[in-house]
Amino acid sequence: MKLPEKLTSLKAYDPITGSYAVRLDANESYFDLPSVLKSKIADQIEQISFNRYPDPLATEVVEAFAAYYHVLPDCVTAGNGSDEIITLLLGTFMEKGQKLVTVSPDFSMYGFYAALAELEVISVPKKSNLQIDTDALIAACQQANAVVFSNPCNPTSLGLPRADVIRLIESAPDCLIIVDEAYMDFWDESVMDLVNKYENLIVLRTCSKAIGLAAARMGFAVMDKYKTSLLRAAKSPYNCDAISQKICAAVLREQTLLRHCCDEIIVQTQRLYTGINELVQRYPDLLETVYPPRTNFVFVQTAYAGEIYEQLQKAGIAVRCFPNGLRICAGTRREHTLLLTELENILQP
Ligand SMILES: *Cc1c(COP(=O)(O)O)cnc(C)c1O
Repeated sequence: MKLPEKLTSLKAYDPITGSYAVRLDANESYFDLPSVLKSKIADQIEQISFNRYPDPLATEVVEAFAAYYHVLPDCVTAGNGSDEIITLLLGTFMEKGQKLVTVSPDFSMYGFYAALAELEVISVPKKSNLQIDTDALIAACQQANAVVFSNPCNPTSLGLPRADVIRLIESAPDCLIIVDEAYMDFWDESVMDLVNKYENLIVLRTCSKAIGLAAARMGFAVMDKYKTSLLRAAKSPYNCDAISQKICAAVLREQTLLRHCCDEIIVQTQRLYTGINELVQRYPDLLETVYPPRTNFVFVQTAYAGEIYEQLQKAGIAVRCFPNGLRICAGTRREHTLLLTELENILQP
């Protein structure tokens, strides 16, 4: 039997597993839910009829999301993480062989799902300062059916200002512009309010980062009502389970708590940046640059990423390793102290 090459050539996503004293590798929030809120949610989960299918439209979650972000519920589709939404969009809003523009470096899953959807990927390199080259991107989008990029970007931690995103949207009206705003809670340049102004705009959000619910698997597509009705029709009917729906709706209603956590994470990320930047100043031969982050993580450019990564791992500290650098997520003060102390040990001669 011959299975398709697009399947047999896949390399499975390889997240860091095992036990680490400090986990700063997956860009999660370092806040778990307060236990009172967990108990409240546990009570609600007890009320669920487990023998029944969940609400196909995740109405409660979508309404809580819409209220928190000031968008219309009719413009929001809930998915099993934004990963599911990306798969769905590339698989149903595009046809086999069509052109998808990505930027490089960016979130690796776009290329992965594009290959499964048998799309032709056109990769536009970023500038040497790791910023998106807006003019080059606009040029590439003229011949393409869609573009997808994260803003702010995972892994670079940098953002493309709203004015540039708008210029792209307006300069390529026949190209679907998919802006993955997984980290936009930590910056303030969202274009989510424009989904009814621009027919070619789709914005993605997730509960996995600032909302602190990576365990629950909930992501969103925000776009005009017409396209929303199409995506809702294209998705599998029961894509979001009843338990996740309860959890995410309850947490998205905690607006004050969410804003507080987000502010704290931003402060902690700046502290992490400052700490790492001091090391960059002191060990310029080993660490090249750390970029001022718009996200909940920092990206340190270094030719020694692999070596440093392994040493940190031995010390029980998990970060994410890339060929040209390390991505380190904000954690608690204690975690930062452990990380910075260990980094110092590794770097000093
Ligand atoms: C983490 C992340 C997501 C979120 O994926 P989920 O499936 O919602 O957990 C999406 N896009 C980017 C760029 C991310 O870094």
